[in-house]
Amino acid sequence: MKNIPVIMIIFGGSGDLAHRKLYPSLFNLYEQGLIHDNFAVIGTARRPWSHEYLREQVSDAIHETHDQVDENEVKAFASHFYYQSHDVTNVEHYVTLKKLAQELDDRYSAQGNRLFYMAMAPRFFGTIATHINDQHLTGSGFNRIVVEKPFGHDLASAEQLNKEITASFDENDIFRIDHYLGKEMIQNIMPMRFTNPLIKNIWSGEYIKNIQITLAERLGVEARGGYYDTSGALRDMVQNHIFQIITLLAMPEPKDLSSDSVHQAKQELLKSLIIPTPEEVKKNFVRGQYLGSDTTFAYKKEPNVDPDSTTETYVAGKTKFTRGPIAGVPIYFRTGKEFKEKKTRIDIVLKHINNPYGQAHSNNITIEVDPESKIYITINGKKIDEPGIRREDLTYVFSKEEMAKVPDGYERLLHDVFVNDSTNFTHWSELKRYWEFIDAVEDAWQKENEAGNPEIAQYLPYRMGPKEADNIFESPTEHWIYE
Ligand code: NAD
Repeated sequence: MKNIPVIMIIFGGSGDLAHRKLYPSLFNLYEQGLIHDNFAVIGTARRPWSHEYLREQVSDAIHETHDQVDENEVKAFASHFYYQSHDVTNVEHYVTLKKLAQELDDRYSAQGNRLFYMAMAPRFFGTIATHINDQHLTGSGFNRIVVEKPFGHDLASAEQLNKEITASFDENDIFRIDHYLGKEMIQNIMPMRFTNPLIKNIWSGEYIKNIQITLAERLGVEARGGYYDTSGALRDMVQNHIFQIITLLAMPEPKDLSSDSVHQAKQELLKSLIIPTPEEVKKNFVRGQYLGSDTTFAYKKEPNVDPDSTTETYVAGKTKFTRGPIAGVPIYFRTGKEFKEKKTRIDIVLKHINNPYGQAHSNNITIEVDPESKIYITINGKKIDEPGIRREDLTYVFSKEEMAKVPDGYERLLHDVFVNDSTNFTHWSELKRYWEFIDAVEDAWQKENEAGNPEIAQYLPYRMGPKEADNIFESPTEHWIYE
């Protein structure tokens, strides 16, 4: 499908996400002809920019992300951009916006198709959705909306936001974006699991001992202290990225690759997600905050952070499903700020099997998602000149040339929105389930906070997080594979 007619309205057109991700991705899709003659973009934000100024910004964004570009192409692309100064809380502004969208629709023959993109602070999402509805901003063609994370702060606020959005949009037209689902190695989980009999047939509690997911960040909260202190690692990373990864690892095989079948398989699985009790939270979860160093602040001393904050910059936890191919297998996860390095990695730890050589090394399947992209499987052979077992990795790795071809997650997902493929977006029923889990943990922590003795591990920066996370394993033979 090429040259999709559409008027795209970006709420937050002067923001960081629009500049770093959306404009460069749209340019690449323009170069591929997916959007070309019949599209226009209205960037909105509060600042009093002109169309010309926005076009300069768009052009800068492309130069910053591309080594070589054809200047005529950049100019032609940028000419499709229009700026509308817009305060999302001012109803009048939606009337002006609607008029501009209609004018551009006529000029570009966009066939009444509208794509709304919420690229601003999440506290405004509900207001925007409400005014799209009461000011009738939707067009006569397709109407789709992309909603950035976080989708709500807890289940109740997510339900409220969903209600506001579904007043104007059908579930099929709501694209709850999680850029992790656009990452190359995350998209490799399904083919890896379902197309190789060696892997497919051991994907069960009989052979898998546990699964471990690590999303380690090197940076602290930086300038985002104010926002972060109202969120924390559990809401910021587990509710979306980590649960998306868990779902892809644990879901049953979908009957085909259609969006409906993939979502059906995920929903089937999520019904059996075990929601932890307060006792289980106490036993199976660790929350932590980073300490300071000679050159960096402790979390509680960061600008705009409450000095008595109980917000976690680190969380480790455990989850399980009662159904699906790996029912009963513990899935451990951890994420946090100020780890020793930035890394996203999944370790599938296989059980030891009895063998005539005695205890062999443990065998794992590891998927490195970031910063490198590779899968490796440990395989055992014999040592050359002495008795015993030697362990080597068989690696599936991308060449530099291949990596250069991998599109950014945002480009991939925007492409999917244009072609109406919601496979790699979060369905409401999935999101709801994730929030039920997160709320159970948050509630248990809140009660601990109120009782005045919260257990919040303080960890040294730029290492592997708090040592308390070594104690969440079910058996003494388990430990973190990535150390
Ligand atoms: P940002 O603060 O850089 O941009 C916010 C935008 O909203 C700006 O254009 C600002 O002018 C506009 N704005 C603020 N108040 C307004 C008002 N009252 N009326 C109209 N416009 C107003 O934020 P960002 O980093 O671009 O993030 C936007 C969204 O994308 C957030 O939901 C964030 O969680 C999500 N996100 C961002 C990134 C990223 O890399 N920046 C990555 C993933 C998700």
